[in-house]
Amino acid sequence: MPAARSPQLLAGVPRGLACTVGVLAGAQVALALSPGRELAGGVVLLALALALQLAVAVLLVWRARRAGDDRSLWQRLAIATGLVSGGLATATALTAGHGAGAATTVPLAVAHLAAFPLVYGGMVLWNRDSTAVADPSDTLLGVAAVLAVVAVTDTVLGHVGGGLATASWWQVQPALAQTAAGLVLLGTAATVPFISGMSRDPRAWWLTAALAAQVVAGTAVATGHPQGWAAAAVGACCLCVAAVRRPTPVPRTTTDPSTTTIGAFVVLIASTVVLVVLALCDAGATAAWCGGIAATGAGIRLLLNVRDLAQLTQSRREALTDDLTGLANRRAVLRRVEELCVQGTPLVVGVLDLDKFKEVNDGLGHSAGDDLLRLVAQRLQHVLATGDSLGRLGGDEFALIAQVAPGTSPADRAAALDRDLQHWMAAPFEVGGLTVHVALSLGLTCHAGAPVPPAALLRQADAAMYDAKRSGSRVVHYEADRHGDSSGRLALVEELRAGVLGGELVLHHQPQVDVATGRTVGVEALVRWAHPTRGLLQPGEFLPLAEVHGLMGPLTNEVLAQAVAQAATWHRAGRELRVSVNLSASNLLDTGLPQRVADLLRAHALPPSALVLEVTETVLLSDPERSLAVVAALADLGTTVSIDDFGTGYASLTYLHQLPVAELKLDRSFTADLLTDARAAAIVASTVRLAHQLGLRVVAEGVEDPATLVHLRALECDESQGFLHSPPLPAAELEAWLAVRERLRAGVRA
Ligand code: C2E
Ligand code: CA
Ligand code: CA
Repeated sequence: MPAARSPQLLAGVPRGLACTVGVLAGAQVALALSPGRELAGGVVLLALALALQLAVAVLLVWRARRAGDDRSLWQRLAIATGLVSGGLATATALTAGHGAGAATTVPLAVAHLAAFPLVYGGMVLWNRDSTAVADPSDTLLGVAAVLAVVAVTDTVLGHVGGGLATASWWQVQPALAQTAAGLVLLGTAATVPFISGMSRDPRAWWLTAALAAQVVAGTAVATGHPQGWAAAAVGACCLCVAAVRRPTPVPRTTTDPSTTTIGAFVVLIASTVVLVVLALCDAGATAAWCGGIAATGAGIRLLLNVRDLAQLTQSRREALTDDLTGLANRRAVLRRVEELCVQGTPLVVGVLDLDKFKEVNDGLGHSAGDDLLRLVAQRLQHVLATGDSLGRLGGDEFALIAQVAPGTSPADRAAALDRDLQHWMAAPFEVGGLTVHVALSLGLTCHAGAPVPPAALLRQADAAMYDAKRSGSRVVHYEADRHGDSSGRLALVEELRAGVLGGELVLHHQPQVDVATGRTVGVEALVRWAHPTRGLLQPGEFLPLAEVHGLMGPLTNEVLAQAVAQAATWHRAGRELRVSVNLSASNLLDTGLPQRVADLLRAHALPPSALVLEVTETVLLSDPERSLAVVAALADLGTTVSIDDFGTGYASLTYLHQLPVAELKLDRSFTADLLTDARAAAIVASTVRLAHQLGLRVVAEGVEDPATLVHLRALECDESQGFLHSPPLPAAELEAWLAVRERLRAGVRA
């Protein structure tokens, strides 16, 4: 045995035991090959073999007790060696009692057969990435394989004849089965490591050598050649080397059922051939039985494999398809783009997004929204040529991957794609009992075939699509100069998604001052994003993203929750401030909003009159029916609805009169020009007058200087908001500002 301190060996190898194995093996080889091996009827040889086997068993027990993920293999081998030792002990006793004879081979064969499932299972498990539990169907296949080999050998022997053919059944069959088991183990040891990558571990080769020696030994001894015991000794040594060698770290590859399917097929074919041969000529019943059982076992194993394969296919499919539409999902789209990029195929990648899908979803319900997505997915298939792919990236966003035919340019293909999309999407869709026209925003990017990361192509098309959406164009082609920073923007969307839920939004409050008395009567809550690395971001930097990427709902929920909680805190402290919150277009299409507002107010015990909800006229007019229903429900709660940026849109005061609106916020543009532009002054004056006649309160925005405030007071404007009083402030700073202001006002009064 090699020195125990070699770097190839495990630490702490019991050297004495290893030497004992070596000495016993040497003695066994010498005796097996010496002319005196028949001494004492072979009892000495058997006893020596028993001693060697026991020493090997002890060494394997030592190995099995060491930690490591291959422990179960060594445990199984230790038990198997113990079983073989038992067989040897019986054979030794029989030989000592009755003299040498074929009878001694029977207990040996039985012991080897009993050990077979252990060794086989251990080998299979060793090569799998999971070493936890043995799969019973693996052993089933192993046993079937053994029976198939027995059947084949029986059939061959039946025809060829020879010494074994004439011996009695109980002498022949166990020996045959032992050899068959040895062959199956050898076959497994020689093939499975290649499937799993274990062949790079030299221990796999030592084990294979040990099993090969075992087959030679078993066959030789069974056929009356005691020299076979020399091979047995060599096999024992190989096994010990495998046990004491340091493992080579090999990443195990997951084996899929197709590998065992091949094994099951071989067994099935072999046993079928045997059965056919038996049917044609009259051979032994044993071969028939073995062949039949082997075929059944392999058949069951095949069935199990078919089930496993079906499950595997199913899970692979699920991982790559979109449940709703059955199209490829984002992962599959990326994979396809990658394939084509690797092949260097010129292609056009398009990302398209349905316009106003959220309105369908919110207005007609999610199931109608799902129906629409499915119908759109079906329609989109029409624009695909052979080799093109379509996928759904999520929400109402789809991706098209179109190959460019030889002889045409990517630009031609892009133009054709755009034309086809227009054609196929022109007709309306029937969903939820309604006829819905669907418009698309399309972003296209062309790829000439040079290497590029597939995700980059999708990002380019997405950036172009976003631009189309923002600019209201139907289609935009990607241009690096214009859309280049898209990766940063998309990353920002993902960060915003996490930030909204992760508490990164903060509110600043801008006071609203009663023009007549100078008292602070309310605040407008204005959102900011405390970005972890970019600092405090202003609403203009992230609200457009939130609106386009469907984050406005969660964002407004968060703003409302914070604003109502803050107002309630102030109310409890005796500061009865109103708080105004801005609503966006998508908020007004969300029919669940009024209920959520009601729940919030109740939870914080804030009177509804303390909450003002600001909406812009353009928002109200874009989808009057649905947004008006939401506005009415909000007003019914007792909250105040305010028209923000009034004067910039088209709403007329008489029209507003029909709405449950109680406040107008005069846009900053009028306030700014009040002192310099007579027309602006006239508009403000008449607006205030008319608003008062309709019972509305008027708040002037953007008041920056005292002269403007004086003028607003003359026009009887109700409230003023602007930098003259204070910029938007965090709650604590606003409280400090209020305290100073109250002291000043008290001083003025005194
Ligand atoms: P807005 O609703 O018109 O809000 C008033 C904006 O005018 C605020 O800008 C405020 O800082 C600014 N402002 C106030 N006084 C003056 C002044 O005297 N002079 C000038 N030049 N500006 C003044 P901010 O905070 O940047 O908000 C911008 C817009 O973002 C808001 O316009 C509003 O439309 C939107 N927004 C802010 N917070 C939210 C929110 O929580 N939800 C929604 N949907 N929109 C919000
Ligand atoms: Ca506002
Ligand atoms: Ca405003």
